[in-house]
Amino acid sequence: MKAANSILSSYGVTVFETISRLAIEHDAINLGQGFPDEDGPEILRQIAAQATLEGPNQYPPMLGIPELRQAVAIHNKRFYNLEVDWQTEVMVTSGATEALADCMLALIEPGDEVVLIEPLYDCYLPMVRRAGGVPRLVRIDPPHWELPRDALRNAFSEKTKLILLNTPHNPAAKVYTEDELSFIAELVEENDAYAVCDEVYEHITFDDSVHRPLMTFSNMRDRCVRIGSAGKTFSMTSWKVGYLTAPAHLLGAIAKAHQFVTFTTPSNLQRAVATGLLLDDRYFSRLALEQQAKRDRIDVRLKNAGFSTLSSEGTYFLTVDIRSIGFQGTDIEFCEHLICNVGVAAIPISAFYQDAEVRQFVRFCFCKKDKLLDTACLRLARHFQN
Ligand code: PMP
Ligand code: GLN
Repeated sequence: MKAANSILSSYGVTVFETISRLAIEHDAINLGQGFPDEDGPEILRQIAAQATLEGPNQYPPMLGIPELRQAVAIHNKRFYNLEVDWQTEVMVTSGATEALADCMLALIEPGDEVVLIEPLYDCYLPMVRRAGGVPRLVRIDPPHWELPRDALRNAFSEKTKLILLNTPHNPAAKVYTEDELSFIAELVEENDAYAVCDEVYEHITFDDSVHRPLMTFSNMRDRCVRIGSAGKTFSMTSWKVGYLTAPAHLLGAIAKAHQFVTFTTPSNLQRAVATGLLLDDRYFSRLALEQQAKRDRIDVRLKNAGFSTLSSEGTYFLTVDIRSIGFQGTDIEFCEHLICNVGVAAIPISAFYQDAEVRQFVRFCFCKKDKLLDTACLRLARHFQN
């Protein structure tokens, strides 16, 4: 029989699914895959339920229901002072994942180069390669995740079609600074490229870290696509409602991909998310503050258990160095050991690199109830302090 597509077939089951399955098998506390263990605002769930009961439950407009596209435009203005035309510059997608796929399919011509910064969220590389793009990888490394500016400059050329940028960054929990972003903006402009910006954690930043969309740089307004996710912003990861903001000339092209990939997104959920984006400032600041408190909670407990922890400026992830508790194996071995012998699941950081040279860091997800975080940390402390 003929083989399926070789690029996608070359990838195994994604690390998030693998670890979650193992965690269930061993009844381990799952601090691996990133999802909150408490659902987001009840009002949004009520609206979605009511919209389902009342209907219509038929195809909404391809670009998304007007209320949600308007809410995305208002959200852009409210948080980032971006003037956005909801009719020509906003599109609703089935999760940020679909938005990313649409961008890759729509913007990349086979042979185009795409600059990516490792560690990479799982779908980036397969999507770029499947669209015919040639990845140019630059890496940031733990523990400080500094941006190697020379390497980044060298990764760009006249063949560069786009950079795929993730800030706040999963798994590094790094929020790119104004200075780093302005450097990236220069490279994008100099090389006549685009930037696809995965900003799903835009509202989860800590301390004095501020998320600034690359699109807010004046030379970037016409070159950037900005992607958000209701899954993250409203703590409902199963909803898979994403939203994309782009200048009309790019949005038109990206909508061509969307119309053939999913065409549309469930209207009941779109209605709820439209209300969500208009919630008052308290909702958004509380989201960040609650996650910051959880970060502090797990950070201090992991330190007490003997781990050295890396800083987490945003997202709901925190990375630890496993050598600090004397574990000499790889990060994958550590995660297996943890699930089977300690009853806690985490994600090996090497899973986010193409060729992992660094194998001593693992990521914990902390958007969980305090009690669960405490129990997980207690298990770690008991196990590693003996
Ligand atoms: N990008 C990053 C960096 C993520 O962490 C996630 C969350 N899984 C996504 C994209 C996908 O978001 P969604 O669930 O809205 O497709
Ligand atoms: N974004 C989530 C994480 O990094 C996982 C999403 C998924 O499982 N596809 O853990």
